[in-house]
Amino acid sequence: MSIKVVVGANWGDEGKGRMVDYLARDAACVVRYQGGNNAGHTVINEHGEFKLHLLPSGVFYPDVVNILGPGMVIDLERLIDEIDELNAQGIQPNFRISDRATICFPFHRLEDGLEEDRLGDNAYGSTRRGIAPAYGDRTVKKAIQVGELLYPDRFEARIKEIGTWKLERLESFYGKKDLFSIDEMIEWGRSCALRLRDHITDTSLLLEEAAQQDQAILFEAQLGTLRDLNFGIYPFTTSSCTLAAYAPVGGGLFGYPPTQVVAVVKAFSTCVGEGPFVTAMETEEADALRESAKEFGASTGRPRSIGHFDAVATRYGVWAQGATDVALTKLDCLSGRKSLKIATHYTWNGALYDRFPLNAVLEEAKPIYKEMPGWEENITGIRSFDALPEAAKAYVLEIEQLINCPITFVSVGPEREALILR
Ligand code: GDP
Ligand code: MG
Repeated sequence: MSIKVVVGANWGDEGKGRMVDYLARDAACVVRYQGGNNAGHTVINEHGEFKLHLLPSGVFYPDVVNILGPGMVIDLERLIDEIDELNAQGIQPNFRISDRATICFPFHRLEDGLEEDRLGDNAYGSTRRGIAPAYGDRTVKKAIQVGELLYPDRFEARIKEIGTWKLERLESFYGKKDLFSIDEMIEWGRSCALRLRDHITDTSLLLEEAAQQDQAILFEAQLGTLRDLNFGIYPFTTSSCTLAAYAPVGGGLFGYPPTQVVAVVKAFSTCVGEGPFVTAMETEEADALRESAKEFGASTGRPRSIGHFDAVATRYGVWAQGATDVALTKLDCLSGRKSLKIATHYTWNGALYDRFPLNAVLEEAKPIYKEMPGWEENITGIRSFDALPEAAKAYVLEIEQLINCPITFVSVGPEREALILR
């Protein structure tokens, strides 16, 4: 039985898409189990370069069934855009949508933007794609499930009820009247259904069948541990559970726990959106690495904050994921640096922390660094661990020890095959 979960151990953008694209070669099904189109997963392979937002990163294998799981919130219009873009690049994705996933409506996008604007300087750094309002509505039982589109009369009745509720709330809280029309929402749902209906199904049955036949299943997370709703840097988190433990729930596979959890870890720290970021580099150093490592949001194009490797955050990130393996990415981006810093502990208020604390402490925590020698060589062509420069090996081994988990993959380039297996 092979049930793998690919997760992020940091703030997101660790290279999950890249690892799923590699590992999906052995899978029968690849399942996204949480999040919406706030994801930006970059895949570079023989077909070209792609940014995936909703579709799982297994779509480049025609025989792999890609599932948008019940734990997701799905902006159907954006999903259709994404399918069209892939079609234009010559890819015909083989995918199914869980009938129990939540619909993310255009009014959720609106609400997301209104709230970020209202918060001003205290904004969460949302991608404004409606993810938090859609999950919020699901939790207060005012959401519509994707499968309801297949019952048009029911869909219409539900959107009338929920749309009225939403309009009243938007008006009373933000003072904006008639921000959308219910008829437009009915039409929006109808036209999306026309395009997607053949893909909407009870995906748990597909997964059950695959598991019974001992086929490999691969789950894909949308963000990293530190953005997990429960265990991340709340409230600067996403609105769903990013942990591997949630994969069977958000993916809808019952009775088959994960057999392997691959936590993707970046060889330095990056963070997009708001929230505390203890190991931030000095501006000049950060700017240089951001440019050379191309650290701009795959979804939004926003510049990512850049920091030294944070072993306190990553140790926690790997632990919370219950990781069995780590994939360390972007090691190639560190070539040419004289020395490298790794934060092994934080200090706050005179106390030493080796455990990742709450934001109350994090916001003023200071890093304690261990400094290691860097290496000059370009390592993008290297495919065996032994062939890496001594300093690069030492850096990887130091990180491995600090985060308490075997690093079994070392990624040295964004392309599918630019990977060292240990
Ligand atoms: P995800 O959201 O976790 O899937 O990660 P993103 O795609 O948002 O960000 C990771 C970025 O790093 C993408 O631009 C990838 O193409 C790139 N990438 C992934 N692994 C490597 C690597 O080992 N080396 C280099 N140079 N780039 C990488
Ligand atoms: Mg990303």
